[in-house]
Order: sequence, then C-alpha cells, then structure tokens
Amino acid sequence: MSDQPAENVRLRSALENLPAYVPGKPAADDGARRFKASSNESPFSPIAAVRAAAVASLDGANRYPDAAALQLREALGGKHGVEPAQIALSTGSVAVSGDLVRAVVGEGDEVVFAWRSFEAYPILVGSHGGISVQVPLTAHGEHDLEAMAAAITERTRLVLLCTPNNPTGPSLSTDQVEDFLSRVPEDVVVAIDEAYREFHDPATVLGTAGLFRRHGNVVLLRTFSKLQGLAGLRIGYAVAHPRLARALSQVTVPFGASVPAQAAALASLEPAAQEELARRAEWVRAERSRVLAALAEQGWQLPVSEGNFVYFPLGEQSAEFAEFADARGLVLRAYGVEGVRATIAEQEANDLLIEIAGAWRER
Ligand code: PMP
Repeated sequence: MSDQPAENVRLRSALENLPAYVPGKPAADDGARRFKASSNESPFSPIAAVRAAAVASLDGANRYPDAAALQLREALGGKHGVEPAQIALSTGSVAVSGDLVRAVVGEGDEVVFAWRSFEAYPILVGSHGGISVQVPLTAHGEHDLEAMAAAITERTRLVLLCTPNNPTGPSLSTDQVEDFLSRVPEDVVVAIDEAYREFHDPATVLGTAGLFRRHGNVVLLRTFSKLQGLAGLRIGYAVAHPRLARALSQVTVPFGASVPAQAAALASLEPAAQEELARRAEWVRAERSRVLAALAEQGWQLPVSEGNFVYFPLGEQSAEFAEFADARGLVLRAYGVEGVRATIAEQEANDLLIEIAGAWRER
C-alpha cells in the first residue's frame, strides 16, 4: 500500500450522502448453537444435482465463461416463454438492478420506489447520480400504488416495484400491477423485483406471461439466490423487451456470470431440480404459515408475508428486540426504528423464533 494519503483523490460528490449497505449479520462463531435468520437466504445447501454441475464446471474454469451465456439464456427464455434476446444476466439481481439504473437513469433523473423496501435501491440510484423518490408504504407494509403513480414526474425514468416486498412481506396482485402500468408513461421503465416470487402462494402470484406483449417498459428481476440457494455464487437476471435486455447487456460487467454460476443456474432449471425446488418452496410456505399462526396466537399483529421472511413492525423497540433474539441464539435484521425481519430458516430456528417472540411479549 502506498504511504501517500489519498485525501486529494477526487471522488464523485454523489458518494457523500450515500447510505451504506448493511449486510445481514452472521451468527457469531462463539461455540454456542446459533441460527442466522438475517439475510433471507436458504438454510439449505444447493440441491445435489446443482452442486454437482457447479463442481464439474470447474474443470473448464481456466477459460472465461460464455459472455453471452447462450445456453442459460435459452433455458431461461424457455422457462418464461420469451426469446433468449429478452434475458439479461449479471452477478445477482442486485447487479442487474444496478445495470438498469445505469442504462436508464442520468444525473438528476428520478427513480420512484416504495420505502421501506430493498435497501440496495437508494444506493444504486444515488451512486449513479439519480434521485431517489421514496414513497412510504401503507400501515400494513404494502406499496401505496396510488401515491407512487402520483410521484411520477417528467424527471422519472424508473419505477421499482418489489413484490413480495422485502422486508415487510405483502405482494402485489396482477390487477394492481396492470392498473398501475396503465398509469405510467410508456417511456418510464417499471422494474418488478421478484426475488421472493417462488415463496408466494402460486394460486395468486403475479401473472407475468402477457406483460411484455402489452407493456414494452416492463422489466422482471429474478434471482437464483433465494429458493435455489445460490446466494454465494451470485447470479440473477432480467426478463425484458429485447431493446431493454440489450441495453442491460451493454452496461453490465463483462463475464459477470461466472462458469460455476452459469452451470449451477442451468442445472437448477432441469425438471427434476425444479420439482425438488418446488417441494422446498412448499416447505417454506408451510413453515411461514406455522410461524405466523403461532405468533398470532401470542398476540402479534404482523403484516401478511408472501416471502421467506416475516416482519415485526416494532418501531423504537426494533434494535432491542433484535438484541433480545441475538442473546438467545437467533440473528435477525433490525431496520432502524421501523421493524425487524426474521427469515424463515431451518425448523429449529423457526421454533426458536416462536419461543423468543413469546418470551419478548411476556418479559
Ligand atoms: N431484490 C430483493 C428484493 C432482495 O431482497 C435481494 C436480496 N436481499 C435481491 C434483490 C438481491 O438478490 P441477488 O442475490 O440476486 O443479488
């Protein structure tokens, strides 16, 4: 390292007011049995066939990955009933969101999103010189689409919808999204972040099949990090009109989707893997219902959740509750003076969450 101080290095002024991304805390490695329920990860390792494909791919990892990721984009196109040209990949869907901001948001342009939502949004927008227009959630932790539509101005280039919403849990219906889209100017991109889609009740999940035929400005953001359990491999994608998908691939980091990440993602799209993943999603939904029912019995009133997490709107008591859980072996994620999010994790962790939530009420 140079011993010259870097004080004179010119950094962009946009960085000065940027919020920090606070990752979910790891469980302390102090020998005690602890559970990490702070990052909405899968508590399970990648499924065997997916792991095997990733490991096998390492034999070719002296070569750069297929930059166009053709095989994977074809498979994803098949899954979504779109052309491969409508799929854009990167190192996780957070990176794809960043690509989207880079592709459509210039200095001083506005990006409208609900707040509280995924904490990367204001960072991605601010770091590219955009202006975050944060529209408060309703009292039930839902997007206020009326207010979001009203927040769109001539400077708006992008709207981010998060469904199910992280960290609160509620989702948007097809009718709500269609109605919203009919009120957004066609030159404004609407990204729908569906990182938690697979945990949603399939009977009522957002219908996306016809969206691209009717709305050229829609982008779906998807990830392999949650249900597929590939958070550590970093791969996510967008489904969009070919013109938008091309724009994303123009600005993305070259070779972002690594060899093992592409191999694992591809293997997880195989029918047998899809069946196993569907069973995992079903298990998470059942655990979520069990946890929410037990908490309701204790007297908690929590927002509905369609994700792999539940949210405690504890306001000023948030940090205290997270510390209370921490001291009892469960690592949760506190959001300022708003609330605390708990990931639906392995069964023992979920049992512990119920126990801790009960103890908190009786303390
Ligand atoms: N979108 C939302 C709403 C998320 O909660 C997360 C992960 N916390 C992501 C995107 C990022 O996922 P990825 O690992 O694919 O970058």
